[in-house]
Amino acid sequence: MTQEFVSRDLKHPFDDDKLHEECGVFGIYGHPEAAALAALGLHALQHRGQEAAGIVSHDGRHFHSHKGMGKVGDNFSTEEVIKSLKGSAAVAHNRYATTGGTVLRNVQPIFADLANGGLAVAHNGNLTNAATLRHRLVLEGSIFQSTMDTEVIIHLIANSKKIRIVDCLVDAMSKITGAYSLVALTSKKLIGMRDPYGVRPLVLGRFENAPILTSESCALDIIGAEFVRDVSPGEVVVIDESGITSHFPFSLPPKRFCIFEHIYFARPDSVVEGRSVYEVRKAIGAELARENGVEADLVIPVPDSGTPAAIGYAQEAGLPFDLGIIRNHYVGRTFIEPTDQIRHLGVKLKHNANRALINGKRVILVDDSIVRGTTSTKIVQMVRDAGASEVHMRIASPPTTNSCFYGVDTPSREKLLAAQYDVEAMRAFIGADSLSFISLDGLYRAMGEEGRNPKQPQYCDACFTGDYPIELVDHETGAEQELTLLAEGF
Ligand code: SF4
Repeated sequence: MTQEFVSRDLKHPFDDDKLHEECGVFGIYGHPEAAALAALGLHALQHRGQEAAGIVSHDGRHFHSHKGMGKVGDNFSTEEVIKSLKGSAAVAHNRYATTGGTVLRNVQPIFADLANGGLAVAHNGNLTNAATLRHRLVLEGSIFQSTMDTEVIIHLIANSKKIRIVDCLVDAMSKITGAYSLVALTSKKLIGMRDPYGVRPLVLGRFENAPILTSESCALDIIGAEFVRDVSPGEVVVIDESGITSHFPFSLPPKRFCIFEHIYFARPDSVVEGRSVYEVRKAIGAELARENGVEADLVIPVPDSGTPAAIGYAQEAGLPFDLGIIRNHYVGRTFIEPTDQIRHLGVKLKHNANRALINGKRVILVDDSIVRGTTSTKIVQMVRDAGASEVHMRIASPPTTNSCFYGVDTPSREKLLAAQYDVEAMRAFIGADSLSFISLDGLYRAMGEEGRNPKQPQYCDACFTGDYPIELVDHETGAEQELTLLAEGF
């Protein structure tokens, strides 16, 4: 197992100027190759977390676990490891995290021996009252092994007065606020659960009669599994020898799926909440062109995440689409403290302008979002250095003005460029000739809505609006800060 080490050197890889999804989950029940299939599923979900990976399996008598820091391939590429994960049921997890710290004891799935048997839990999202609950549990005598919010779930289950494990899990989650999609494995059941707002995705699939629960449909495609349906917000799916049962134990508020999954987080080949992510991104690009057209010669994506929106923009605007920036896919994450100077160097390592194409052209650059603005600044300069006569930046999301508290790693608010500056000041900061963002209503139109319903927004869009659908208990009480400090010293 990979050696344990502390998170400080990992926290902000130098080239990170994006929001990051924190996790991907996968669970399978009733297949002799459960661990191997789970490892493949994790490969497809690698974009949702690259800092650690883990699988827990069950062979009918015992649980088996393997976890490690790094990518899936660093941890699950040998036959020996896969064979050690015996059994026909498994849960698996990819992690990108800052909360909780990146140490091996914080790698999921988290496992515990409870009075009613063993339980492994893998979770995507963020529990917004975890620090408050943890504080209370510690006062009541609980001893925590990690700083993960997921461990709070385990302690709540252990303290539940219910008898059956599913009831204990539901009882535990009834005390929790936050955004979560989780998979849990007991000796007899695979359980999937999605928070009542349905913020994070979870889908149900099937491979050779073995049910699968996972974050995105691309994890089904990789093994040729069939997509069955999305797990509904607030739904608890219980899979065991007798089949699949569905429960709705919580009261259901109107759904608020994370709109950023469509803009950036989910893989473009996934179908999320009934929509092709690729098609949605193209529609966002087309809407962006309708709202923010400009005379130009060429539309260029900031690779890779800006590509589908740039295609949509170019098609709508009737302009040529070309790859004017080439991304180096072989630059790994570099664990260097993120001084501004290093970040700037990092962008040069990762992207290069296609000078022969750009020279003398009026260029529209399309990207999915602006976070700190450091990458955009360097990209604009790079395109100018390659001879572009004009550089117009178009962004396929509204200005990101607020942090996410629902399982996405965002810089603190004061580091978000759009929280500090208006659009004209942002344009000057990144050095573009013009800068425009898709409007909030335009984004909703691209999602197939008539616009954003201000009385009852159809999605979570809090990072653009500050309208947080789920109570931010720890943030408001300051308990969040205490847990962060604890994680740093853990
Ligand atoms: Fe998604 Fe933004 Fe809501 Fe976070 S705040 S769940 S990133 S829409």
